[in-house]
Amino acid sequence: MERTSYSPPAFEPGHVWLCGAGPGDPGLLTLHALHALQNADAVVYDALVSDGVLGLARPEAELEYAGKRGGKPSPKQADISLRLVRLAREGKRVLRLKGGDPFVFGRGGEEALALVAAGVPFRIVPGVTAGIGGLAYAGIPVTHRDTNHAVTFVTGHDATGEVTGVDWAALAAGPSVLVIYMAMKHLETIAGRLMDGGRAGDTPVAIVSNAALPDQRVLETTLAAAHADAASAGMAPPCVVVVGPVARLRAGLDWLGALTEGRVLEPDPLGRGRERRTG
Ligand code: SAH
Repeated sequence: MERTSYSPPAFEPGHVWLCGAGPGDPGLLTLHALHALQNADAVVYDALVSDGVLGLARPEAELEYAGKRGGKPSPKQADISLRLVRLAREGKRVLRLKGGDPFVFGRGGEEALALVAAGVPFRIVPGVTAGIGGLAYAGIPVTHRDTNHAVTFVTGHDATGEVTGVDWAALAAGPSVLVIYMAMKHLETIAGRLMDGGRAGDTPVAIVSNAALPDQRVLETTLAAAHADAASAGMAPPCVVVVGPVARLRAGLDWLGALTEGRVLEPDPLGRGRERRTG
């Protein structure tokens, strides 16, 4: 087989690259995102983009912050889109960098449509989303053959900050694993609605704060205790919450804890050993 080497697409002046930065660890960037960081003239980044990732931008690049800080309201989405269009029209190579994946609860679609409307050429570079890669850093696979064949990704609040108007009772009755972004503000309400919908109070839950960052913290709890446990542990956003049996796999798969704290991993966290057929 002939070996081919990676050659990145040209980052043209006047173009916008809308890139995912992953959950935090710069090592989770794609090659395309790294190429964009090394070549952009302007980097417009969100609150969730880590310092480690921004540190990879070329020193001459203008870094512009477009997110919430210090409790101030975030810039209006329309203003951010307009800013991207202006920078592109100035002939800059514009990197729009978003935490995780730009198309997962990240308004990347809205920004891309604004670029379409303005006739600005762009490229989308997917990233590792917190609800998959962030959980993997906590040793939790979103699917496992012995536990689930489906995953539901859901956001805990909508654009107005209210609890999402999804049918939580239907989600409670649906496939076992729910991965909830932006869950902390309404965690008590969400857990209550899931239990009202029939999810058992002892359903395993894991909450991962600052996933894939140096200050990552993981709380293992249950649906009934999640809100109180998170409050007493002082779990600070950003957090991703997983509800369902995969959370138990962390006891066996917390590879980061094993590497950094010498955590002893259990080879049979689901307790399936006795059930497994030997033939
Ligand atoms: N586009 C992002 C999600 C943006 S919504 C992605 O694909 O990951 C913001 C939410 O993402 C946060 O409230 C939190 O639920 C989750 N999130 C993003 N980065 C995270 C991280 N490093 N650790 C834990 N949760 C994170």
